[in-house]
Order: sequence, then structure tokens, then C-alpha cells
Amino acid sequence: MNKPEKKSSSNKSATESESTFKDLDLTDEMMKALERAGYEIPSPVQAGVIPPALEGLDVMGQAQTGTGKTAAFTIPILEQLAPRDEIATVQALVLVPTRELAVQVRNEFEKLAYFMDFKTAAIYGGHSIKKQIEEIKRGVQVVVGTPGRVLDHIRRKTLDLRETWCVTLDEADRMLDIGFRPDIEKILSSVSRKDRQTLLLSATVPPAIERLAKRYMHEPTILDFSKDAVSGDSIEQFYFSVDKVKKFELLERLINREKPAQAIIFCRTKRGTDKLAKRLKDLFDHVGCIHGDMNQPARDRVMKKFRDERLKILVATDVVGRGIDVTSISHIINFDTPEDCDDYVHRIGRTGRMGKEGVAYTFVSEDDGELLTRIEIRINQLLEQVYMEGMELKREVKQEVKPERLAAVAAMRGRGPKKHRRRL
Ligand code: AMP
Repeated sequence: MNKPEKKSSSNKSATESESTFKDLDLTDEMMKALERAGYEIPSPVQAGVIPPALEGLDVMGQAQTGTGKTAAFTIPILEQLAPRDEIATVQALVLVPTRELAVQVRNEFEKLAYFMDFKTAAIYGGHSIKKQIEEIKRGVQVVVGTPGRVLDHIRRKTLDLRETWCVTLDEADRMLDIGFRPDIEKILSSVSRKDRQTLLLSATVPPAIERLAKRYMHEPTILDFSKDAVSGDSIEQFYFSVDKVKKFELLERLINREKPAQAIIFCRTKRGTDKLAKRLKDLFDHVGCIHGDMNQPARDRVMKKFRDERLKILVATDVVGRGIDVTSISHIINFDTPEDCDDYVHRIGRTGRMGKEGVAYTFVSEDDGELLTRIEIRINQLLEQVYMEGMELKREVKQEVKPERLAAVAAMRGRGPKKHRRRL
């Protein structure tokens, strides 16, 4: 069975910012679902990704969460699906790095397929495989899953991918970071339809992603929204220079001063996360903590409480913090400067979502100067230093800013936001 006839794309350029969903030539069912979801205009990522994806082309989009990237691939997949009474096996497979994200993406599919005859399943580790098999057997058109569990189903022959014409890799960089590359490659090799469409979304494009794209994608349309999102006006970014031993005191004073609507505080280690949450709970109400050592039900409970705004402060590590999609987050506090500058981009992407305003503070201690410089180069702008009385660092931060480094940042600053690249 062939995939249904491809929709003709509109003649609008992918980078036109003023496009409407109407310009994208979507079905009535989709237009109604978008209205019901309250999505009035496409975000830049959606305006960029949807037209080529609707044409069946492979697309590699550099975009972080909070930019509307999920709907950017959900919409074209739903629009191209064959009706369930024609094909009742998996037509599209979406791979995601975490269970939280699997649930979020499944929910987005359900939201946007509200007026369609549509079934989807989220499959991930830590949940009963038997139940997942039953779910798949209901005749789902889309499966969203983590690579390990998806591969497990493929091996057990409980996931039939013969009719699968689309594979999406969401947050591809994070999937590689956490060691899913071999699984992803096996999965991609087992989706063998010649007309396979591959969509790849990634906040960053390190060489490993480029290699993956080269091997498994067919002349992808490449769109880069990363710099726009990071340097967007919706996130103010500051840093404090602070003695390691005074970080907690600074945090306490900052929370008291800012009274965040909702904040995520990022730490480097799981133990550090636990310890910090414990200390904060003594001082503030509605504090929670999430990291990879917690079991899935505990993580789900914390996330639900945070989403329902019953938690105001969430202390998190990078791996789990990353998939968090909560629009009311007002503050990101990097209690520990991220060691990987891409993590910085992911962390601050938790706020300033979909045009809402957000602020990010990074605590920089004696030995973090080098990290700060790398972050500034990565995001193409200098962070503004702010001060809290009595909290100044005794010694200067060893930023080791060599003149050429500063010049590089300054030059990039002057260059302004990068234009989207497009290569067909
Ligand atoms: P994402 O980047 O996919 O995690 O999306 C971030 C948030 O924006 C989610 O809560 C979406 O429901 C929401 N969203 C996505 N697209 C739109 C849109 N076009 N208009 C308004 N909200 C949107």
C-alpha cells in the first residue's frame, strides 16, 4: 500500500515569518484541531519544517524544545497518514531520548489528531512490555518510543514496520549523548521502505549527527533555527560570579528576590541535585527534585506536580531536565555552570517558551571562567554580569579570555541572528 498522495505545498518560502496555518494548505480536520489547541500562527520552526516535510522530503531541523518543534513534525506526519481502515499498522515511528518526551510527543499527536480516526502508542522502558504489545495490536498508526524499547519490540516481532514510511528522530543529539546510536542505526536499517521519509530534529548538530544524517537521510532540507531561539529576546541571560561556598546563600537570596512563578535549578550531579533539593525544602514550599536515578513512577509524579504548578521549584540534572515542556517556567538557575555548552542551550530552552518571557541566571565560580567563555561563543552573545550585595567573588573568575576569544565573541555578536540555511 502506498502512502497517500502527497499534498502540494504552498508557494510560500519556508522562512517567511508571517505565514499562517492556512498558507500551509492543511486539511480541515487539522485546522480545527489547531484552533482547538489554541495554535493561531505557526512558530518559525513550524513554518520552516512543515512545507518540505509535507512534500515527503527529508528534513533536518536544528531547533530546541520550546520552539514548537514537536508540532513541526507531528502535523506533516498526521497529514500524510493513510486512513486507519486502509493501513492499520505503524506508518510513522518517532524516536525520542526519554520516557517523559515519549509521553509528551504522544500527547501532541493525540491533540492534533483530535478530529481524525487515529491511534498512537508510546513505548518506553520501565513500563510493562505486555501492555505495550496489546496497545500496538489495537492498530496504531504512529509509535513514539525510546530506541532501546523500540528495538526490543522489533526483536520480539511485536512491532511491524513494513508499512512505516516515516521515521522521526526527535532530540537526536541527546539520543546520541546517552548512547542510543547503535540502537538508532539498527532501527533505521530495519525500516526498509525505499520511499522512507526521515525527519531529524536536534538542538545541536555535532559531527556525529551530521554523520548519521549523511548515512540515513536522502538529500535533507537543512533548516537552522538554533541561534534565533537562543538569542531571542524572550530569554534574558545573566551570570553571577560567586564563591563555591556561597552558592547556596546566593540561591536563597535570589529566590527571595525574584519570587519565580516556576523555576528549574540545574545541578551537575544526581547527588548534588538531591542535596540541594533537601536544603531548599527546609527554606521554601513546593520544592521538588528529578534525576535519572529515580524510578519512572516517581519521575512521572514530580513532572505532573510541576506541570500542575503544585511545585514551584524543581531541582534537576541535565538528562531529565531537558524534556520538560512547561510553558510557565519563568526562571532557569544554573547552580552549576554546565560543562558542555550545548547543555547550556538546552537548559535555558526550558524557559522563554513560545514567546513567553524568561530569565536565566548562571552561577560561575572560580574555575568556571573557561566554561563561561565557551558558552558565550556558543550562543553568540556575552552574558551580562549581575551582582548581589555581599556576594561578590573574592578572587576574580579565571575566565582566561584570550584577546582573540573576546574578539570572536564580539564579532559574532555584531553579525546578528543567523539566516536559515536551506539546501535541497
Ligand atoms: P515544543 O517546542 O514542541 O516542546 O512546544 C512548546 C509548547 O508550545 C508546547 O506547549 C506546545 O503545545 C506549544 N505550541 C506549539 N506550537 C504552537 C503554536 N503554533 N502556537 C501556540 N503554541 C504552540
